[in-house]
Order: sequence, then structure tokens, then C-alpha cells
Amino acid sequence: VYNFSAGPAVLPESVLLEVKEELPMYRQLGTSILEISHRSPEYTAIAESAKSLLRKLLGLDETWHVLFLQGGASLQFYQVPLNFLPPGGSADYLITGHWAKRAFQDAQLVGRVRVAASSEDRQFCAIPDPSSWDLDPQAAYLHFTSNNTIYGTQFPSEPEVSVPLVCDASSDFLSRRIDPRRYGLIYAGAQKNVGPAGVTLVLVREDFLQRRNQPLPPMLDYGVHAAKLFNTPPVFAVYIVEKVLRWLEGLGGLPAIEAINNRKAELLYRRIDQSDFYRGTAEPASRSKMNVTFRLPSETLEKQFIEEAQQAGLIGLKGHRLVGGLRASIYNACPIEAVEALISFMDYFEQRYG
Ligand code: PLP
Repeated sequence: VYNFSAGPAVLPESVLLEVKEELPMYRQLGTSILEISHRSPEYTAIAESAKSLLRKLLGLDETWHVLFLQGGASLQFYQVPLNFLPPGGSADYLITGHWAKRAFQDAQLVGRVRVAASSEDRQFCAIPDPSSWDLDPQAAYLHFTSNNTIYGTQFPSEPEVSVPLVCDASSDFLSRRIDPRRYGLIYAGAQKNVGPAGVTLVLVREDFLQRRNQPLPPMLDYGVHAAKLFNTPPVFAVYIVEKVLRWLEGLGGLPAIEAINNRKAELLYRRIDQSDFYRGTAEPASRSKMNVTFRLPSETLEKQFIEEAQQAGLIGLKGHRLVGGLRASIYNACPIEAVEALISFMDYFEQRYG
């Protein structure tokens, strides 16, 4: 079976096999990873290894804190402004999809935020052109969603602005190289590109962290989590994330996975563009390399496609319920063979029903 689910999503097979092997007993401990203390030397070693792998993969220096939090990316929508929206100040938001809008709405509960640009009037089919952005040079930060999971659009590169970037990178985290110097904070739910559901990765730069509001409830204060292990982290999820990061490093890191991801996306979009039977929903310049969204000539055919694809072992292709259509999520762990199998199925389906 090839799994194209948008998340929780496919994990590298080698990681699953390793976990299966280790699950009953972790490294001669006589107990399972599921049963060990989060303050044990074993967990500490896992968490430290995951942090240093993340630093290495992304090229982060020691001024970056790596946090393993809970509450999903959704809690970050509120936690970010709670920490970084200064009283009397404001922050800018780029509204490029459902999740970006949710982040903006939660920030409105905290203080003053501005819409610097939005593509809602175009059903979020594109990333607004930077020349049209209305930026505030005094903004505490610019929040953007690097990849819009539902609408299948992605920023081709980081916004070039003078204020620190805060990024919801949930659905393209570690899928390509980034320039960390532009960011104050990056967050991502693990369940698409880096692991199972249950842990949210948060990277925050020390000088940005120092700007946060005080006092804050400790559980929602990034500074508290940066200073110590404040409460029980999602041990099992972090354990798997560490393995996925090692797998990624073994592949050759971000340059290698970026090349693989480019190739997968190129093959799939080329097939979509080959005929009028399939129609991509995102504007070509904004197309996501992670979530490929497309339509067929009718909803009846789309339903048929999803059913027959499932019978052929291609699962998770139904578009998000907000937009319908089809979506193939081709995250890091999705092998190129999966994309090739999908393309063959698309050929067959068009021949039969086109
Ligand atoms: N942000 C993006 C870009 C997403 O794709 C999702 C979920 O799919 C979320 C945020 C919400 O994440 P969570 O369910 O981890 O809160």
C-alpha cells in the first residue's frame, strides 16, 4: 500500500521496523521505551540526539533552542502571540489558507494583528505576490504558513522582510533548505514530515525569545521550556522523531531530500498538466511540493477515482473536506515509487473514463 495521507502521514519503513524490534525492550533496559521516565538518562540521550540532529540538519547554531512541546500546531497559534505580541504593538500575518487564518484569529484574541496580505478572495489558490504585501516595519514579527496543506500551495522561498519571521512549517518542515537567519521562531506538528502525532517541534532563537512578554503561565512560556524540562514530554513521539532525523541525515540531509522532493513533485505535476482530464487547483508558481491538489471533470469521477485507487493500494487521496477534490501528500517519507504508482494509476483511469 502507498499512503498519501496529509497527516498523520507515512513514516520511513526502516524506522517502523526498528521501532517494532525495540518496542518490547529498549537497549537491554528490561523495559519498554513506553515505560521509561522522561528524566532517565536514556530519554535524555534521545532528546539530546534529536536536538543536535535538528541543529545539524538545519544549520542552527547554539543561539537556537529546540523544544518538544504538545498541543499541536494549533496551540502555537495562540502561544506565539501570547509570548511575542507586545502590549501596544502589533504583528503582521500572511493569510494564505485555512491554518494561516486560524493562526491570525487566535492572535486577535491576544492583541493587535494586521493582515499584510491574503489570497482568500481567490480561494487561496496562490501565494500573494510580495509586491502587493502591506508590511508594517514596526511589526513584532511576520507570521506565515510556509506550506498550505489544504490548498496545495507553498511559499517558493522565505518572505524577504525586515522583521523576524514566525513560521508554521507543519507541512513542509525539513523538506528543503531554509535560511535560519530570517526567523525568530519556527513551529511544526511532527505528524507530517518528522514523526507521529503528539509532539510539536518549536525552534526559537535566543534574542527573539528575550523579547517575550512576562509574566506568562509557565506551560505557555517558551522561556520556561527553553530553560528546563518543565513537564512530561511526549517521550514515545520524540523517540520516533529522533529516528526519523537520523534517517534523514543518512539520506544526505536537506539538500538530498530537497532534490528527491523536487523530483516527486515535478513528476506528478507533469502528469496533471499532460491533459485536461486532471486539473491542478493551485497556480503553477505557488504549487506545493508536499500536497498536490487536483480535480477531475466531475465529483462522481473523483469519488470513483478515490475508490478505485484504494482498491489498487493507493490510499489517503481524498481532498480536505473544506475543498473536496483530490490531494496527494508526498512528504519526505513518501517514496518515489509511490508517486510512480500513482501516475500509472492516473494514466489507467484517464484511459478508462476520459
Ligand atoms: N498548520 C498546518 C499547516 C497544518 O497542516 C495543520 C494540520 O493539518 C495544522 C497547522 C494544525 O495542526 P495540529 O492538528 O497539529 O494542531
